[in-house]
Amino acid sequence: MSLVKAQGLTKTYRNGDVEVQAVKAADFVIEPASFVAFVGPSGSGKSTLLNMIGCLDHPTAGTLSVLDTDISTLDRGAAAHFRGSNIGFIFQDFNLVPVLTAYENIEYPLIMVQKWPAEKRREQVMRLLKAVGMEAQADKRPDQLSGGQKQRVAIARALVSNAKLVLADEPTANLDHDTAYRIINLMKKMRDEFGTTFVFSTHDPKIMSEAEVTFTLEDGRVVSTTDNREAIHV
Ligand code: ADP
Ligand code: MG
Repeated sequence: MSLVKAQGLTKTYRNGDVEVQAVKAADFVIEPASFVAFVGPSGSGKSTLLNMIGCLDHPTAGTLSVLDTDISTLDRGAAAHFRGSNIGFIFQDFNLVPVLTAYENIEYPLIMVQKWPAEKRREQVMRLLKAVGMEAQADKRPDQLSGGQKQRVAIARALVSNAKLVLADEPTANLDHDTAYRIINLMKKMRDEFGTTFVFSTHDPKIMSEAEVTFTLEDGRVVSTTDNREAIHV
């Protein structure tokens, strides 16, 4: 079974008379519980691809199935529901709510989207805070946290609804190299612990080598696939 399967996946943007082919006939498969990176220079189509996988953007052509659902057939409401139930997001600039504490940021999806009962919510938030090593900072607000700590909170938030797939668009772009490396490895640890598939994008060669599988993008095309699993596990 594949978790994500794309065939001939294409996205064309039109701005007036100008047409930009952001993603061109991409074929790829992402397996359950894998740790995958899309790599390539700025403008190569990484965000467009992740946005389509995350049902935030609609393919122009081709087929895309995520968790055995053909997502090109979902209307806006169904796409939002599918996202809320199955997919977590991590962003380059963290996107935490500034007036909420670390604890409350992680809890937010369980209140706003999933409406979990209070006791179950508390257990789940504490479990995630612990998993990302942020128990001691539970009551701090984002402006009291370092970049790496903010991204730890964002990882916990992405996992709190038991997402099967977490998409992270350049999650380390605003972090120094050592912190970036630690954040990627925390994501990998979360994959091991929860069995969640992580798909991230990056243009940092050191970070991309931490992925098990990398898809290299050039000018909207997937030009190569590298499977590092042998190398990593030796
Ligand atoms: P990356 O994330 O690798 O930097 P993007 O997916 O953001 O690449 O962009 C791929 C190409 O699509 C670029 O040429 C970009 O300018 C173009 N593009 C992205 N989003 C839009 C949009 N909403 N409208 C028009 N062109 C876009
Ligand atoms: Mg991008």
